[in-house]
Amino acid sequence: MLPQSPALESTSADKPGVGTKRGVDARSQIRATGVQHGRGETSQTVTSDEKHHSARTASAGQAEDRGLATPYNIVVPNIAVPKRTAQHVFVLDKHGQPLQPCRPARARKLLADGRARVHRLVPFVIRLVDREVADSQVLGVEVGIAPGSKVTGVSVFTNNQGGREGLVSIEIGHRGQQIHKKMQQRANYRRRRRSANLRYRAPRFNNRTRPSGWLAPSLRHRVDSTMAMVARLRRWAPVTAIHQELVRFDMQKMQNPEISGVEYQQGELFGYEVREYLLEKWERKCAYCGATHTPLNIDHIRPRSSGGSNRVSNLTLACIPCNQSKSSNPVEEFLVNKPEVLKKILARAKAPLKDAAAVNSTRWALYQALKGSGLPVLVGSGGRTKWNRSRFGLAKSHTLDALCVGEVDAVAAVPKTILVAECMGRGSYSRTRTDKYGFPRLYLPRTKQVHGFATGDLVRAVIPKGKHAGVHVGRVAVRSRGWFRVGTVDCSWQHCTLLQRADGYEYERREEVPFPSRLQAGVPTAP
Ligand SMILES: [Zn+2]
Repeated sequence: MLPQSPALESTSADKPGVGTKRGVDARSQIRATGVQHGRGETSQTVTSDEKHHSARTASAGQAEDRGLATPYNIVVPNIAVPKRTAQHVFVLDKHGQPLQPCRPARARKLLADGRARVHRLVPFVIRLVDREVADSQVLGVEVGIAPGSKVTGVSVFTNNQGGREGLVSIEIGHRGQQIHKKMQQRANYRRRRRSANLRYRAPRFNNRTRPSGWLAPSLRHRVDSTMAMVARLRRWAPVTAIHQELVRFDMQKMQNPEISGVEYQQGELFGYEVREYLLEKWERKCAYCGATHTPLNIDHIRPRSSGGSNRVSNLTLACIPCNQSKSSNPVEEFLVNKPEVLKKILARAKAPLKDAAAVNSTRWALYQALKGSGLPVLVGSGGRTKWNRSRFGLAKSHTLDALCVGEVDAVAAVPKTILVAECMGRGSYSRTRTDKYGFPRLYLPRTKQVHGFATGDLVRAVIPKGKHAGVHVGRVAVRSRGWFRVGTVDCSWQHCTLLQRADGYEYERREEVPFPSRLQAGVPTAP
C-alpha cells in the first residue's frame, strides 16, 4: 500500500518534520561532513562492470580490425542477469537542489540520524539539512522514455559507459480516452443547445483554424503529462540526458528493405528492425488467416527451399498453425482455395510500407518538446529497444522498455518495484453535473476544499471502530457533508490526516514483471 515501500516504514519517514532543525544542525556540525550521503557519492572503484566494459572495448576494437564490427552487431560482453534492486530515493540538498539518488537503506539512516527531512512522500524525496550540492559529488542520472498510447514508461538510471543501472521506474497512465470522451460529450451538449429550442448559441462550423503541429487534446495530453513528469524528475534528480524511443523501426538501418535482402544487412539488431517493420506492414496479424493476438512467425512467401529470398518483399507474418501447415509448400498451393487472399498477399508483399518510419505525431511532438528542455535528447527505435531487452533477458514492460531505449551495452540493475502514476486530472471546471441528456442534475460547490481536504489528496484515515476499523491510506474523494471516501472505504473527515496534496496523479506501487532467465533470451555471440 502507498505511500512508501516497506523499507521506508520508519517513524521519521512517516512524520515529515520530526525532530528540530536546530538540534540537527548542531549535530551535523559535530560530524565531519564528507561527500558521502549515498552510494553514488562514494569514491569510485573499478567495478566488475567497468572491467567488462574495458574488455568489451578491447574486443570491439579487435573486431573492427578484422572488419567484423558493424553498427548493428555490437560485441556484447558476458552480461549477467540484471540484479533486482530496491527503488531508489530522490535526494535534495538543503536548498532543494538535486543530489544523486540513494538506496532506501541509506535514506532510512539519514532520516533516523536527523540529517534529512521528508521532502515529499510519493515519489519519495528526502532533503538533506547539512549538505549543499557544491560540496557533493553528483554523478548525474539519465532518463529513458518509452512512449505508448495508454501508458508511458519512464526509467531513471545511471549510465556508466553504456552500462545502465535502473534506479527508479515510473509508469505514467494517460487519460487520453477520458479526455476524448469528455470533449465528445461537451460537443454533443453544445450541438443540442444549438438545435433545441433553448437560449441562442451561435452556429459554429467550418470556422476553426488549426496551427501547424496541432494535436488533438487527448494526444496533446500525452506529450504534456510526459513533459510534466520529466520536469518533476529534473527537480528531484540530477538529470543529464534523455533517451526517447522515437520510431518503431529504423528505416536507415534497413536501407531500402524491399530491395536489398536480409543477408546483406547482417546483425541481430537488424532482425528486430525487420520484425517491427513487418508487424507494421501486415498490421500485426497472420497474413493467411487474419489471426490476431497470437504469436506470429516470419514466413517466407516463396519458401527458401524453392529459391525464395530473404528480402523483406518476400516476407510476411503467419500464425504458428498457418506457418506449419504451409511448411515449404509454394504459396499458390497453400492458398489454392483462397485465391483472393493470395492475390492480396502477393500485391501487398511487393508494395513498400508508406511512411515507413511510422510517423507518430505524438512521439515527434514529444521529441520536439524534450529538445526544448535544453538537455541532450538521444533517440532509439522500437526495434532496438526490443533487441536490447531480449539481449539482457528482460521481459516486456513499459518501464523495462524505458530502461532499454537506445544504445546500451549492459543493464546491471532493475528496480524491483515500479511507481504507477495514473493521470487523474484535477477535477472539472464545470460546476454542474448533468444527467445523460445534458440536463442539470446537481451543482458542485464553488470551493474544492472540504474541512481542509480536496479530492485527490493523499490521506491516511485511522478508523477507530466498525466494519472498516484500521488504517487506510489513499486518495480521498471529498463530500460536502464531511463523509469522505478513502480508497475503498467511507469515513468521517475527522479520521483523516493529510499526507500529500493532490498533484493530478493517483499513485500505486507495483512489482516489476519478472524477467525470464538469460537462457530463454537470445543472447548474441561475439563474432
Ligand atoms: Zn494464420
